[in-house]
Amino acid sequence: MKVTQHIAEAKDTIISFEILPPAKGKSIESIFGLLDPLMEFKPKFVNVTYHRAEQVYKKRADGSFERVEIRKRPGTVGICAAIMNKYKVEAIPHLICGGFSKEETENALIDLHYLGIKNVLALRGDAAANEKFFTPHPNGHRYAEDLVGQILALNKGHYLEDDIMDGVKTDFCIGVAGYPEKHFESPNADTDIYYLKRKLDLGADYVTTQMFFNNQHYYNYLQRCESHGVNVPIIPGLKPLTGKRQLTVIPSTFNVEVPVELCNEMLKARTDADGDKVGEEWLLMQCRDLLARKVPVLHFYTLGKPHIVYNVLKKLF
Ligand code: FAD
Repeated sequence: MKVTQHIAEAKDTIISFEILPPAKGKSIESIFGLLDPLMEFKPKFVNVTYHRAEQVYKKRADGSFERVEIRKRPGTVGICAAIMNKYKVEAIPHLICGGFSKEETENALIDLHYLGIKNVLALRGDAAANEKFFTPHPNGHRYAEDLVGQILALNKGHYLEDDIMDGVKTDFCIGVAGYPEKHFESPNADTDIYYLKRKLDLGADYVTTQMFFNNQHYYNYLQRCESHGVNVPIIPGLKPLTGKRQLTVIPSTFNVEVPVELCNEMLKARTDADGDKVGEEWLLMQCRDLLARKVPVLHFYTLGKPHIVYNVLKKLF
């Protein structure tokens, strides 16, 4: 079932999670170990991130170096299939532009369609680790809106090879990313929404936001979106902040603010367990406030500390 259908049919706020594929060489059991307890809260969908390949230098036996491409977390599509099979919930693969030609994207979409996957999150992806700015694949897409366009074309049965007549129509529900504190490359918050709106006007169905630790950013974003004529569901993305190290890592990685009260509490933490407790209390407070505003979905980034998400949900439901 499509995300938009789940939202339309739900009487109350629904729950969803985002997970990362395991690092290459690790077992899928680590994913099941993470998701098994969270299934108690009957999530309607589970997002699975996509990780682009990185260029690394490997030392040869003769001491010289060669540049090789490795993907540290492969398996997004396989994990989606495994989740759907094991838990009977929707799995949403993330699709990115970075590193992909249009043909590779089309083939991935064909695979997803064969697997019965109904939802995708269409993203640009970040610049490669060795690049300052995002560079598209020579035969790929520069912006998420171009990827949305390709998915919509396939939904109409239009394949890249124009000699395919009467091509099977896919039926993907398309989510896109939104940034309550604006995307770091956007010159200002309104221009950011201008480009968000372009993705939606093309035909994307809903928005999932970047994490935020101050709900006011999300509420302001809803207002700005509304004033630009955005009328699709905007799903809040939530992550527990855990530990002092994240006070610097999270803002620099995700370009989001950590409120001063949360910072102060975290700085008082003496142990990892204290840090987890601070993150848990803050997330609980955010969720209570969001539930009071009747948000359509609480979407949790489980990375790192799924037990905190579990504890929060246990207190809420
Ligand atoms: P876009 O919508 O293309 O926007 C990128 C920038 O370009 C923005 O500043 C925008 O304002 C601007 N822009 C957009 N269109 C145009 C245009 N036509 N002309 C000029 N400027 C334009 N990354 C991963 O690699 N894998 C993941 O699995 C992943 N999952 C994510 C999930 C969520 C919910 C979120 C919020 C982000 C995720 N990301 C992921 C990160 C995301 O790929 C990055 O934030 C990336 O830098 C931007 O992606 P986007 O889809 O928002 O890009």
